[in-house]
Amino acid sequence: MLSMHTSPLAALGGRETGGMNVYVREVAAQLGSMGVRVDVFTRRDSADTPEVAEFAPGARLVQVTAGPPERVEKEDMFALTDDFARGVEAFRAREGIRYDLVHSHYWLSGVAGDRLVADWCVPHLAMFHTLGDVKLRARASEHERPERLEAERRLVHRLDRIVAATEHERRLLRQIYRVPPRRVAVIPLGVDLETFRPRDRGAARSRRGIDAAERILLAVGRIEPLKGLDIFVRALGEMTDLARVTLLVIGGDERAEAEVARLRAIASEIGVQEHVRFLGPVAHEALPDYYNAADVVVMPSFYESFGLVAVEAMASGVPVVASRVGGLASTVADGRTGYLVPWRCPEPFAEKVELLLRNEPLRASLGRAGVVRMQSYSWAAVSERLCDLYAELADQQGSAFAAGGG
Ligand code: UDP
Repeated sequence: MLSMHTSPLAALGGRETGGMNVYVREVAAQLGSMGVRVDVFTRRDSADTPEVAEFAPGARLVQVTAGPPERVEKEDMFALTDDFARGVEAFRAREGIRYDLVHSHYWLSGVAGDRLVADWCVPHLAMFHTLGDVKLRARASEHERPERLEAERRLVHRLDRIVAATEHERRLLRQIYRVPPRRVAVIPLGVDLETFRPRDRGAARSRRGIDAAERILLAVGRIEPLKGLDIFVRALGEMTDLARVTLLVIGGDERAEAEVARLRAIASEIGVQEHVRFLGPVAHEALPDYYNAADVVVMPSFYESFGLVAVEAMASGVPVVASRVGGLASTVADGRTGYLVPWRCPEPFAEKVELLLRNEPLRASLGRAGVVRMQSYSWAAVSERLCDLYAELADQQGSAFAAGGG
């Protein structure tokens, strides 16, 4: 697996660390446990990390030097894709490994992977996680570099298979990029059902210092304009009863300061600043407490290719009020596990959240339905489907890939 621009073991909630990191870590670990040995290659961004580390049985993280061993902005990384590919090949040659398949994540890895498979003659499949042209359509003021747009438009036609998180993404690949649907496999992301499950709400609240009488709305994720938090801050301004209501916002490192300042300014402008608290990033392992403490999880994004946070919330038994965009439209069952509302519209967000806050039995019943719905989203199920896809592609190319066979 190639995960060039961000390590699957990086702390979550930063500018570049979110769903993709969780996906690569969880899937690599599951595949390892199924007997498929996985090396995940990432660009070295620190001088003092070991070159190779086994992070789960059968799954290793390999750091490749490409550019300086420090943080490099994603925007500057395209120039390093050749060095990265060369570093992966050098490791492979040194270790005498013959890889059976390359699975790339995000377009930068896709570019590096494209170079590698030309020599290795093995199948190449990729997940884009986001696509430049799709982002531009979702939010007009997004900017994308031409090299990304060009690379994606080229790559989508070179890959042996694209893994899309939803049917919706497969449709976009056809409509925008003219990719025939048969070249796109739809396999959703998953959720750790052990970690994210209903638990005692009072205990979760007292562990996190949240008053039992508080009405808690929760937003979790990278803090960037595409996440649409401004829409939800405006929704708070539309609510008729804000007594004891707090929106907790989890995520965003020091590089999110400008966006946090913008959100605070909007909150002050409409007089809801006392109802919004930014908690910064929270370790993934500590998140269950916050989901379990919440009354409603909100996801007002302009676009989500999948939206792991919604799935984690539903698995925890909490109703979700989300924009009807991307993956959210297929994971959230409108009226049954939460509500889907038109994007960019504060009013329906306010209406649905108030409906839920007023009605405890409704929250409980949507929460229970969410838990049931999420049972099919385990990482084990996701990884089995991926494994079948790997085997199918390898078979087509006559390569020896087989689960359990190494
Ligand atoms: N996350 C976390 N701590 C944070 C913020 C986010 O563990 O402070 C995790 C969150 O639980 C989820 C992922 O980061 O698993 C975000 O994935 P999602 O698909 O919702 O958004 P993306 O980052 O892919 O846009």
